[in-house]
Amino acid sequence: MSDPPPDLSAAAGAVDLAEDVVSRATKALVQQGGVDANQTVAYDLAHAASAAATARASLAYGTRGETEARLACAFVADAVADLATRVFGREAAWGVDDRWMAPAGPFVAAHREPAYLASLCGREGPRHLDPDFELVAETFHRFAEQQVRPHAEHVHRTNGDIPEEIITGLGELGAFGLSVPEAYGGFATGGESDYLGMVVATEELSWGSLGIGGSLITRPEILTRALLYGGTEEQKHRWLPRLATGELLAAVAVTEPDFGSDVAGVVTSATPVEGGWLINGVKTWSTFAARADLLMLLARTDPDRSQGHRGLSVFVVDKPRGPGAGFLFHQDVGGAPRPAGRLEGRPIDTLGYRGMHSYELAFENWFVPEDNLVGRDDGLGRGFYLQMQGFENGRLQTAARAVGVMQAAYEAARDYAAGRVVFGSPIIDYQLTRTKLTRMAVLIQATRQFSYQVARLMASGQGMLEASMVKAYVCRAAEWVTREALQIHGGMGYAEEFPVSRYFVDARVLSIFEGADETLALKVIARKLLEGA
Ligand SMILES: Cc1cc2nc3c(=O)[nH]c(=O)nc-3n(C[C@H](O)[C@H](O)[C@H](O)COP(=O)(O)OP(=O)(O)OC[C@H]3O[C@@H](n4cnc5c(N)ncnc54)[C@H](O)[C@@H]3O)c2cc1C
Repeated sequence: MSDPPPDLSAAAGAVDLAEDVVSRATKALVQQGGVDANQTVAYDLAHAASAAATARASLAYGTRGETEARLACAFVADAVADLATRVFGREAAWGVDDRWMAPAGPFVAAHREPAYLASLCGREGPRHLDPDFELVAETFHRFAEQQVRPHAEHVHRTNGDIPEEIITGLGELGAFGLSVPEAYGGFATGGESDYLGMVVATEELSWGSLGIGGSLITRPEILTRALLYGGTEEQKHRWLPRLATGELLAAVAVTEPDFGSDVAGVVTSATPVEGGWLINGVKTWSTFAARADLLMLLARTDPDRSQGHRGLSVFVVDKPRGPGAGFLFHQDVGGAPRPAGRLEGRPIDTLGYRGMHSYELAFENWFVPEDNLVGRDDGLGRGFYLQMQGFENGRLQTAARAVGVMQAAYEAARDYAAGRVVFGSPIIDYQLTRTKLTRMAVLIQATRQFSYQVARLMASGQGMLEASMVKAYVCRAAEWVTREALQIHGGMGYAEEFPVSRYFVDARVLSIFEGADETLALKVIARKLLEGA
C-alpha cells in the first residue's frame, strides 16, 4: 500500500531546494543581462518564485494536523515537479546543473505517487481561520448562497445587470467598508483584519459568482486605498464614509486603447481651467462605469510627455448613474466660460465576467472641480504612485476572487463525479478523477493559505511583492482548476445550464486584469527579485 506518512521535514527540504534554485537563477539572470534580455526564463522564474512562496505558506499550514500535512506535501511535490519542467534543458540559464533536483527526488516520488494522491480525494482541509474571520466567512457564504447564486446564471446568459438587491445587501453587510478606517465610517481597525476580512469576504462572494458578487468590492477598495494614501483630510471625509456604506460606488478608469500594461504612457489629458480641470481622451475597459457614481481616473496633468509617469495625477470624477447598455451624458456649463462636457460609455461584450460590464469611455471637455484632484496640489504628478498603491490591494483581492471561483468549480466537479456513472462506476471511483480532484483541493488550500499570509503581511505594511506573486500564481491555477472541473463534467461541462461552464470562462479573465500575467511576472516580480539579488 503506497500511502506514506506525510513527511513535512522532507517537504521543507524540498522548499529550501526550490528557493535555492530561484536564488541561483536570479543571480544568473543578473549576470546574463537582466529581465528584458531573458524574458522567457525571467517569466518562468517569477512563477517559480511565486510557487515557492506558496509552498512555504503551505508548510506552515501543514503543521496544523494530519490532513493539512498531507495536502501540504502533495502541493510541495507538485510545485517542485513543475519547477523541474521549467528548468529542464535550460539549466545554464538557471545557474544550476542537471542534478539539482536529486535531493528532493525521493520526497517528490512519494508524494506524487498516484495512489497517494487518489487516497487524499475528498480531504479538503479546514481553513483555520480565527473565530471572528470564520464568522465573516460564514456570513458572506450565506449571502452568496442565498442572494448571489440564484441570479448568477440568468445574468450570465442574458448579459444582464447586477440586481440592485445584491448591492444594497452587501452594503448592509458592511462589505464596502471593510478597508475604510473606523474614523471615516468603515470597519477597518488598523490590525490584520483590514486585509484579511476583505480576502475572506471576497473569496466567498466569488464562490457565489465572479461577475455579480466577488468583484463588487474591488473597485471601491482600490479607490479607498488611494484616498487613504494620497487624499486630503477633506477628501477622505467627503468620500470614504459614503464609499463605506455603498451609497457611492466606484469604477476605475486607467487603461486606454493604446496603453494597458504600460500604464505610465496614458495620454488622456487633464487641462487646468477656472475652478478645475477639463478631461479629454478615451479610456477603455472601465468596469462597472455605468452604475458607478465615481470614476477613479488616471490622467496626464503635465502636457510634457517626457515626464512619463511623473506627469500623471488621479481624479475622482463624479458622474450620473447610467444604463448598463451604454450611456451618453452632457454637462451643463451654467454660464461658465468653458465648452460643454460630454461623456459617452460604450459597453464591451465579453466571454464571461458578465454583470459588471466594462466600457470604453470617451471624455470630451468633461469638467472636474479642483477639489476632485486626489491630494489637491500635493497630488499633482503622484497619480501613478497612488494608482499602484491601490492596485497592490486589488491584486491580493483578485487572488481571493480566483480562490473563490476555484472552490466553486471544485465543488461542482466533486459532486458531479460522485453522481455520474460511466463504464458501470461513478467516475469519482476512477483513479484519474480522484487524483485530479485531490490536486484541485491541494491547489485551492495552498493558494488560500498564501492569500491569508499575504493579507497579514500587507496589514503590517509589507507584502507588496507577495501580493503580485499570489495574484500571478493563483490566477493561472484557476485556469487549470476550472478547466479540469469542466472536463470532469464531460459534455455537460460545455452546456451553459451547468455553472461550471461559467466558472471556466470567468476564470479566464483573472490573468488579464489587475496586471496582465506576463507584465506582472516580468515588470514586477522578476524585476523585484533581481533588484534584491
Ligand atoms: C474584463 C476586463 C475588465 C477590466 N477592468 C478594468 C478596469 O476596471 N479599469 C481599467 O483601467 N482597466 C481594466 N481592464 C484592463 C486591463 O487592466 C488590461 O487589459 C490589462 O492591463 C492589459 O492591458 P492591454 O489589454 O492593453 O494589453 P497589452 O498591454 O496590449 O498586452 C497584450 C499582451 O502582451 C503582454 N505584454 C505586455 N507587455 C509585455 C512585455 N514587455 N513583454 C512581454 N509581454 C508583454 C501582456 O501581458 C498581454 O498578454 C480590464 C480588462 C478586462 C479584460
